[in-house]
Amino acid sequence: MILVLNAGSSSLKVEVFSQDLTSVLTGAVSRIGAEGTIRLGDMSKEATTANHAEALALMIDALAAAGMTIDTLTAAAHRVVHGGTILTQPARVTPQVIASIKSVITLAPLHNPNNLAAMVALQEMAPDLPQYVSFGTAFHATNPDVATRYAIPQTQHDAGIRRYGFHGLSYAHLVESFGADLPQRLLAFHLGNGASLCAILNGNSIATSMGYSPLSGLMMGTRSGDIDGAAVLRMSAAIGEDETDRMLNRNSGFQALAGENDMRTLLARSDDAARFAVEHFCYWAARHAGSAIVAMGGLDAVAFTGGIGENAAPIRDRIMAQLACFGEVPVHIIAADEERQIARDAIQLIEAGL
Ligand code: ADP
Repeated sequence: MILVLNAGSSSLKVEVFSQDLTSVLTGAVSRIGAEGTIRLGDMSKEATTANHAEALALMIDALAAAGMTIDTLTAAAHRVVHGGTILTQPARVTPQVIASIKSVITLAPLHNPNNLAAMVALQEMAPDLPQYVSFGTAFHATNPDVATRYAIPQTQHDAGIRRYGFHGLSYAHLVESFGADLPQRLLAFHLGNGASLCAILNGNSIATSMGYSPLSGLMMGTRSGDIDGAAVLRMSAAIGEDETDRMLNRNSGFQALAGENDMRTLLARSDDAARFAVEHFCYWAARHAGSAIVAMGGLDAVAFTGGIGENAAPIRDRIMAQLACFGEVPVHIIAADEERQIARDAIQLIEAGL
């Protein structure tokens, strides 16, 4: 059994997979740092936890109560959002890998520390349990320099200001789902609360819409998507850096244009603001798609994943209608499953004897 752990900003999600990648059990501790809940399989109860280490301890107890003690596990496998330029492959967790994850914390200050906390806490709890890690940025390591470089001075580039791209585990899973039928030039949309797209040429990411952070590219549930740096500077001077950060990441996108961030409710509304927000989303998704298609030199197929991509047919149809100028191509819908990709990565490393 492989225990997959995904430590978010205030949650800890787990999923247990058997060696043949069958999902056996899912669970989560939510609202870490406040009065929250723990859920595992059919069990659900209130749980107040102070931090990710406490949440993990609670989850390990719940797993044991469900018959899945630590000694029944083959390995644990974690998701780390950002691997920077050094962590571009799944890896076994070693002191050196932990040091490397720490060295890129400045790139994902809100996410990497929680991912690390779960890893270190589990190591203390179960020192003999092998741990593995997959990185959310790694799939885009194949992007050429011309795609990742911002045209800014070398010192800033060397300090880490470049494009990285995100949703990599979702795109890696999507590629795996195609198996031998993978189209050569595949445009993939991951459309959830966060939204991005990726140009996948022969299975490799060669361009993606998110950049230095997940803020750029498509407009999203609460993020603005691309915005001119000079506009950010002016807003920052007017309302301060923290407020600008909050505004662009949490109070923009659908939230700003239509007062709410949920696509399902937006599609059920018929007012002008909701209509405009949906039009804006599809228009910009298609415009960014055009850029990705040019990077691939054409288009053989499109794939949609994520809550919106999988479920919102009107959004898919509208984006595809705007891409009609590139010709008729097959459209695939693939269920997002980052956890399965993390388990798959760990199993591959175990089978390679690592
Ligand atoms: P996250 O990025 O947080 O993982 P999801 O991938 O679950 O988010 O996507 C959430 C989005 O998917 C929400 O905007 C939600 O309204 C939308 N969504 C889910 N189901 C539907 C549906 N049936 N129709 C339209 N939108 C949907």
